Amino acid sequence: MIWNEAVECADRETMRALQLKKLKETVKYEYENVKHYRDKMDAVGVKPEDIKTLEDIQKLPFTTKEDLAANYPTGMFAAPMEKIIRIHASSGTTGKPKVAGYTQSDLDMWGEAVARGLTMAGQDANSVLHVAYGYGLFTGGLGAHIGGEHINATVIPMSSGNTKKQVTFMQDLGSTALCCTPSYALTITEEIKRQGIKPEDLKLTAGIFGAEPWTQAMRDEIEEGLGIRAHDIYGLTEIIGPGVACSCEENAGMHIQEDFFYPEIVDPDTLEVLPDGKDGELVFTTLGKEGMPMIRYRTRDICHLIREKCACGRTTVRMSRVFGRTDDMLIIRGVNVFPSQIETVIGTFKELTINYKIVVGRVHDRDTFELHVELAEGLDIDDIAFMEDLRDRINHALRDMLGIGCKIKFLNAGTLPRSEGKAKRVEDTRNFAE
Ligand code: ADP
Ligand code: ZN
Repeated sequence: MIWNEAVECADRETMRALQLKKLKETVKYEYENVKHYRDKMDAVGVKPEDIKTLEDIQKLPFTTKEDLAANYPTGMFAAPMEKIIRIHASSGTTGKPKVAGYTQSDLDMWGEAVARGLTMAGQDANSVLHVAYGYGLFTGGLGAHIGGEHINATVIPMSSGNTKKQVTFMQDLGSTALCCTPSYALTITEEIKRQGIKPEDLKLTAGIFGAEPWTQAMRDEIEEGLGIRAHDIYGLTEIIGPGVACSCEENAGMHIQEDFFYPEIVDPDTLEVLPDGKDGELVFTTLGKEGMPMIRYRTRDICHLIREKCACGRTTVRMSRVFGRTDDMLIIRGVNVFPSQIETVIGTFKELTINYKIVVGRVHDRDTFELHVELAEGLDIDDIAFMEDLRDRINHALRDMLGIGCKIKFLNAGTLPRSEGKAKRVEDTRNFAE
């Protein structure tokens, strides 16, 4: 089933015409209502009338997280406060929180975007949507919620935490879809296993997981543990929240709601626009947003675009799984390391759980790099020969992936802290200010 076939299956020409019309309106609206945009456009000598084709978007300046910080909290709002009916703020994973304001029309657009994603995950008015993203300033909870209302599902606003109660409600109310971060889905999966509940005892058919990067290995583990299909949902507060893109049943990238959010991929160093298929930084321009529209907003998320028509029938452009954020990248002994690369390596070892922690420090001007991993249930941490062999094999695989090895610390299953929201997997004690 497709929520809005006219848009989601539109031919390229129709979509581009719609995008161009909305882009022109957005640029004019920003120029008239937000000083920051007017100043920036004046500085490069571009006027709203100069936007005649979609490609003309490249004439417009980028918007960065620093621009939001400089205009904190509401300097980037384009609508008057009397029209702003909701505030959210980014969870603050990196840097100062970013505040976003929504008008009624923005909330309607958000609801529609999430509704399209939930429909991709097979949910409809008969569904019971179990929302275990945090509620509050974070967009996860209320974002999934508004989408659920849009498709007329029965929405349970669980919020995150209290994992035992999550499982009880899931059983007693027959939840059909779980919405939370992938790392919290894993925590819930473990709790279900611990209680001896089998996937077939639950009514769950799908998971809509996002708000943090995750790997295929993690997806496999959650799908198996919960007996569901896991869908990837992407979004960010500055653009609207979750629902900017979502993966369909083909699990072949996330369909971007491109009539609302116009994507580009740029080289993060040169800012040159990259062709489809090339990995780079994802940039979004909102189309038709009123409260806090964004022009060429640099997300710092790394992925690529897939333009071919999807087997599901939707024609909207897809974004690949997000590899990581540019700010997540660790530079260890001169080598670039993304946590998702380490997760990929860990996922290939049946002897380990998918939980891990990366600990980076500095001793005598040299970076130290430790990886804390958990042994799978039933393995003997005191079997020295086995452990030494496993250590060698993990280090070998890490060297193949990253070019460097690390010190590996083994822990018993269940020792590392479990996530209820966005997982914190890196501890970096190096002080770069010195
Ligand atoms: P922040 O985490 O920066 O405080 P948000 O709560 O708005 O702010 O989260 C948005 C960010 O979460 C995105 O920019 C991206 O880095 C990450 N994210 C969201 N969805 C996904 C996803 N499906 N896969 C990977 N990363 C995601
Ligand atoms: Zn598809």
